[in-house]
Amino acid sequence: MTNIALIGCTGSIGRQAADIVRRYPDRFRFTALACGTQAGELAALCEEFSPRRALCEAPFTPPQGVRRAHTKEELFEDCDVALIAAGGFAGLSYTLAAIAAGKRVALANKESLVCGGELVMRAAKERGVEIVPVDSEHSAIFQCLAFRRDASFRKLILTASGGPFLHKTEEELRRVTARDALSHPTWKMGAKITVDSATLLNKGYEIIEAKWLYDAPFEAIEAVVHPESIVHSLVCFADGAALAQLGYPDMRVPIQLALTYPERLPCAPQPDLAAIGTLTFLPFPAKKFPCFSLALEAGAAGGTMPTVLNGAGEVAVDAFLKGRISFPAIADTIRDALNAFSREDVYSFAQLAETDARARAHARAFVYGKSSS
Ligand code: MG
Repeated sequence: MTNIALIGCTGSIGRQAADIVRRYPDRFRFTALACGTQAGELAALCEEFSPRRALCEAPFTPPQGVRRAHTKEELFEDCDVALIAAGGFAGLSYTLAAIAAGKRVALANKESLVCGGELVMRAAKERGVEIVPVDSEHSAIFQCLAFRRDASFRKLILTASGGPFLHKTEEELRRVTARDALSHPTWKMGAKITVDSATLLNKGYEIIEAKWLYDAPFEAIEAVVHPESIVHSLVCFADGAALAQLGYPDMRVPIQLALTYPERLPCAPQPDLAAIGTLTFLPFPAKKFPCFSLALEAGAAGGTMPTVLNGAGEVAVDAFLKGRISFPAIADTIRDALNAFSREDVYSFAQLAETDARARAHARAFVYGKSSS
């Protein structure tokens, strides 16, 4: 029996994790459930799964038999694995709390590594805690490395669907709406990451994540467009061989594998290659989607700069979703913030939280005007 503390139980990854636990009730149990604001859905999940503890950042009365957690640390007391599926910068504090509790982390929250990579990897090393990737690309790499972190490789190649706007001209990109951005061609995900997939900011984030997870220099990590989303990523070795992991786009596979690896349990249909027919690979359109290069610049600068990138990006995407700014203005907002901040070495979560707040305030002023910030 694997005891799981699920953080972000009402999001896209959280719901799919609940499906896995429903399917294998004799293998998995939720010992804690936490979410941001969806108190009603959390209460329903508590009724169904009877975790020992629950936490909601909004007002919430847990059902009988479930204790309200008062601190993040309490959530991780009884678990074997902490599945961190909360969205945004907020996820980082849960990841750090799970590591401090000495628990294995199945990591679906990108910001934990994008913003807090240095803190997270240092803390994990000190506590002897394993970080297992849930993101499909990083799970693919983990599989191609036969789950060995010490395996040597030449290059990591992350695949990208290219998002819904791959074939749009720069002129057309100025007129796309939130609704257009939310219809992703291959993956069903939450709103923020779906927009990040449309701007390709998400692929920049994933390169930063790969750097931390696999201790790879940026020069050894590439991205390629693969519109079918069947090949989830590749690893290239010294002899010219490359290994890829294939499957239909279905996040339940990497979520489940993060909980069971190296064991595999039935999860999704196997790919029917003849029915799929063609696998296409295209050069990465970095020029048309500047968010990607901005992410790499911030990643290469390191220190607090990826936190500035992310804070500004969260504000910009929110404004785009509300119809307040155009699609290209997402990149403008991020660029403005990166230019306005100078890099600092990272020494604490509090420092990153403060940088995050300042980056958001700066981005809000850029987007909505000085008066409303
Ligand atoms: Mg991904």
